[in-house]
Amino acid sequence: MAMETLPPLREVIARHGLSASKALGQNFLLDEQLLDRIARIPGDLAGKRTYEVGPGPGGLTRALLRAGAEVVAVERDRRCLPALEEVNLASGGRLRVIEGDALAVGEAAEAGIGAHIVANLPYNVGTALLVRWLGGEGWPPFWASLTLMFQLEVAERIAAKPGSSAYGRLAVLAQWRSDARVAMKVHRSAFVPPPKVMSAVVHIVPKPAPDGVRAATLEALTGAAFGQRRKMLRQSLKSLPGALEALGSVGIDPARRAETLSVDEFVSVARAMAATPLSA
Ligand code: SAM
Repeated sequence: MAMETLPPLREVIARHGLSASKALGQNFLLDEQLLDRIARIPGDLAGKRTYEVGPGPGGLTRALLRAGAEVVAVERDRRCLPALEEVNLASGGRLRVIEGDALAVGEAAEAGIGAHIVANLPYNVGTALLVRWLGGEGWPPFWASLTLMFQLEVAERIAAKPGSSAYGRLAVLAQWRSDARVAMKVHRSAFVPPPKVMSAVVHIVPKPAPDGVRAATLEALTGAAFGQRRKMLRQSLKSLPGALEALGSVGIDPARRAETLSVDEFVSVARAMAATPLSA
């Protein structure tokens, strides 16, 4: 059997009784053209390793395999496994499925260095994984790119620019050592069943990390600054050791508000904090 001979997804869902489970955040994508467009976002995947989280009945998985990728996928719903095994056979063994919770999988070891991560996940799981993949002191990360579906509102917060209401902690953490953009908006009617809100695919590619900045410092700094986003920095950063001194040393006016600082300005404050003994 080859990929073209696989039955339509609707038939697979009916045959394997894959009624969408709300508890597992299941909203399936069935439109092959749309799925192929998503699979093209990371670039040419021919012969590349990809890690898919939540393949479900396998729509996006099929698109990744059609693009020539090798896929390691983690799925929590065991009802999906027989359908995914059919996809594996049709692809000539290019799909390996791990049954389990993506939050508990050691994905760096499973997917390998340089894997492209692709997922259409329940949003709470997606955000938890995103924060994990963007965090940590080691950089570059094990992944080559992230292509992730989010609620449109969350996608816009990830890619937001300073001065907009969407700009906040998530934007700084996503952009200080990665390029992040909204690659595609997806209408709610594309999903079965349709979710309440619009969705969007975010594409994130790591870039060299700035020197002399720890992720933990930047996390603490953005947490304090945006924790009270309407306040001036002199107020919101008051209780973070070394922050106000660092602000002064890089010449940022403490009367400014967090949402006016560029990502580079946050980075320079975090670097100055690392250089002061107060925050050591
Ligand atoms: N990728 C499929 C598609 O695009 O049609 C399914 C997407 S559906 C929004 C989310 C999938 O993630 C479901 O198959 C669900 O069972 C799975 N899932 C939910 N929580 C998970 C978790 N913690 N770990 C792994 N998979 C999970």
